[in-house]
Amino acid sequence: MTQDLLLKNVRPWGAAATDILIRDERIEVIARDQSTQAVPVEDCAHGILLPGLVEAHTHLDKTLWGMGWRPHQAGPLLIDKIETERRLKTEWNIDPARQSKRQALLSLSHGSTAIRSHVDIDTEVGLEGVEGVLATKLDLADIIDIEIVAFPQSGLMARPGTLELLKEAMSMGAHVVGGLDPCSIDRDPKGQLDAIFGVADQIGKPIDIHLHEPGELGAFSMDLIIERTNALGMQGNVTISHAFCLGMSDRSRALGLIERLASEQISIATVATASRPVPMADDLRRAGVILCAGSDGIRDTWGPYGNADMLERAMLLGLRNNFRTDPDVEHALWCCSFGGAKVMKLPDYGLEVGCFADLVLVEAESVAHAVVSRPKRKLVIKRGKVVARDGVTSIGAP
Ligand SMILES: [Zn+2]
Repeated sequence: MTQDLLLKNVRPWGAAATDILIRDERIEVIARDQSTQAVPVEDCAHGILLPGLVEAHTHLDKTLWGMGWRPHQAGPLLIDKIETERRLKTEWNIDPARQSKRQALLSLSHGSTAIRSHVDIDTEVGLEGVEGVLATKLDLADIIDIEIVAFPQSGLMARPGTLELLKEAMSMGAHVVGGLDPCSIDRDPKGQLDAIFGVADQIGKPIDIHLHEPGELGAFSMDLIIERTNALGMQGNVTISHAFCLGMSDRSRALGLIERLASEQISIATVATASRPVPMADDLRRAGVILCAGSDGIRDTWGPYGNADMLERAMLLGLRNNFRTDPDVEHALWCCSFGGAKVMKLPDYGLEVGCFADLVLVEAESVAHAVVSRPKRKLVIKRGKVVARDGVTSIGAP
């Protein structure tokens, strides 16, 4: 449904106050002192207008949000977390449809208007997660964009039958081919990477690979990813999530990799994890590698943290990168908005005339102040329609 709306007295990305007329889901006019009788008006009281925030890496199917406090159970290793999760999924009845809807609405209440979610597929849960998140994607299609990555969380080569499930997930409506630690989980890097790049190439879809592997092991896997991106001409269609190896102490090795990521237009998704080495935002920015950000798992069997607030994620990114000046703190928020939009290839994204009116309004003195103070979102607008007000979404969670 077409929504027209006039936003009075807004400061787009902290600039001077102006009015914004939204017509047919898009920003039509940006000019001071507009008035129109026929269009509903929101007085924005000199609040800062940001483009809808982008949650570029999360796991909607796994959250325990709304299920009461569940003390963390998993052991310290990656494999402990994978196995504990597989057990608790059934024991606790973590229903992907219900849980993904809860988290998506939580994201929306914090001003995210687009989400890239990795969704588990394996030979035990099958396609249940994908079905559940697809149901939420359709259900909420008018108020938030959800993109699904078919994610072989328990390994691809190590669990025969998973590749077939991954292909089926893609034909059901997943948009991105996922992958995971080809050396340490599958112990068959060539096997896994040839398989996922093969599927992506065949159906013309992008790839997003979780790469937790540290140091030289991760660098080796990254080499193989870069080689395949180049060989298949997949520039601009590959994302590496986490990429902890880029935080390794051998800086010349890491910077060499970053240069090659730039020339193959491979982007990086980060959580700005405090407990692990991470790719440094400045190294990527200097080389021209796009950095986007996400919450990763939110209050799930992997960890008790997270609240789906991408303004807070921008602050964490700023803290992790020792960002202090306004331009640097703004860059952290750029990663949580424009960076994610570039990675997800969101069409006509931004605050210019002609862009889709996916917007969020906050009360702050400047963009950096908004990141640091993380005020309540006064308004969240999707395609010109107000979908959340003062942190409360127009649709209630299940
Ligand atoms: Zn993840």
